[in-house]
Amino acid sequence: MPLPTPVRTTQHTISLGDIDDDAYRVIRRLHQCGFEAFLVGGSVRDLLLGKRPKDFDIVTGARPNDVRRIFRNCRLIGRRFRLAHLLFANGKVLEVATFRAEPFGTEDGEADLITDDNEFGTPESDARRRDFTVNALFYDPQSAEVIDWVGGLKDLEARVLRTIGEPVTRFREDPVRMLRAVKFAARTGFQIDDPGRAAIRSERKQLKKAAVPRLYEEVLRMLWGGAGARSFELMDELGLLEILLPEISAWLSRGDRDPAETLRALLATIDAKFQGRQAVESGVLLSALFWPSFHDLVRDRPGARDPAVARKLAEELIGPAAIRLRMPRKDVGTLLSCLDLQLRIAQAGPKRTARIQVARHQGFPDALDLLALRTEAEGLDEDALAEWESLRDVPRAFGPPDDEGFGGGRRPRGGRRRRR
Ligand code: ATP
Ligand code: MG
Repeated sequence: MPLPTPVRTTQHTISLGDIDDDAYRVIRRLHQCGFEAFLVGGSVRDLLLGKRPKDFDIVTGARPNDVRRIFRNCRLIGRRFRLAHLLFANGKVLEVATFRAEPFGTEDGEADLITDDNEFGTPESDARRRDFTVNALFYDPQSAEVIDWVGGLKDLEARVLRTIGEPVTRFREDPVRMLRAVKFAARTGFQIDDPGRAAIRSERKQLKKAAVPRLYEEVLRMLWGGAGARSFELMDELGLLEILLPEISAWLSRGDRDPAETLRALLATIDAKFQGRQAVESGVLLSALFWPSFHDLVRDRPGARDPAVARKLAEELIGPAAIRLRMPRKDVGTLLSCLDLQLRIAQAGPKRTARIQVARHQGFPDALDLLALRTEAEGLDEDALAEWESLRDVPRAFGPPDDEGFGGGRRPRGGRRRRR
């Protein structure tokens, strides 16, 4: 059998000016030292789509120790797979990874969860171990060539999201790839190909085997990636929502048009407003997800005018999801107070003293963020929002945030979520 050769082409839309200067210099330096080096992954995909990449990952034949020898600003990270991070003055970090080997399935062809991923490989093996064909393109800025081992260029042209290799196998190896499929399809508008969709439907229960913090992180990425509305629609359609957030999927399948529309509008507002910038607490994003079903729940219960009752209902609604997704305590606290403060805000009446009392609550600024989203999505009164906004900075009582009860998961990597 002839050795597979990649497609190499300079017929593409990437121009050198779109490439991060430091990434270009790093690749040139690696070449000068005799190593192959390429841009890879999301950056090549986004450049070919005419979008500005979030980051410029580099892949090379140089081993981590070689990279450290060549670059003074290098820090090696990762136990499972050693990676080099190059640190630049403006806080920018470029990731330089060594070509990895393809993981092997077990003997009977059944794929297993990948647990060890620490073998170096070739450009081809590195391309093939990636998740989707459009995520596996290499770009050499010095020769201006795009190098395609897996048919990614063709799929990019056809706007298809396709796993590299058999989708059932690839989703069993790493179930988080199913959520990544939804995220990328939603962001790019690409179609997940039919075998991929079928595999998600058949393998969706495998999500339960995935590392919970990764699942939680993917849900958050969907919400602040600029395509949350479409992501949740797709997750619902493919049966993933039923596994991750059965309470929301059950509520959606009751088929009440208005609340479902409110949820869609809230997510679309988040998409339009943040466009991928993480400018709001993750707990606020989650509260938008739960608000319509919570509102439904309390609307018919006169007892819910009592804050303690409302709080209890919120806890009953959120509790199972908080435990299932091991939501960090802080997010659970924010989420709960966002929900019950919406009711207190609605009940406060016109008196300023009563309003100030609501505004003194620890969770009030976050609740205001949700109210702002609701005002836009539900077409609520903007003057009313402005009046509440004027109380954003009233002094708040000190004390522990009221987040007792659930959660207890650790905050996923990435630290503080609010970057205003
Ligand atoms: P984003 O724009 O969200 O950063 P990305 O494609 O760069 O998208 P990353 O999560 O940053 O996604 O991962 C970088 C690259 O690493 C991917 O493009 C893909 O090639 C590879 N990759 C990431 N996660 C996986 C996975 N679970 N399985 C296989 N390959 C993966
Ligand atoms: Mg990336």
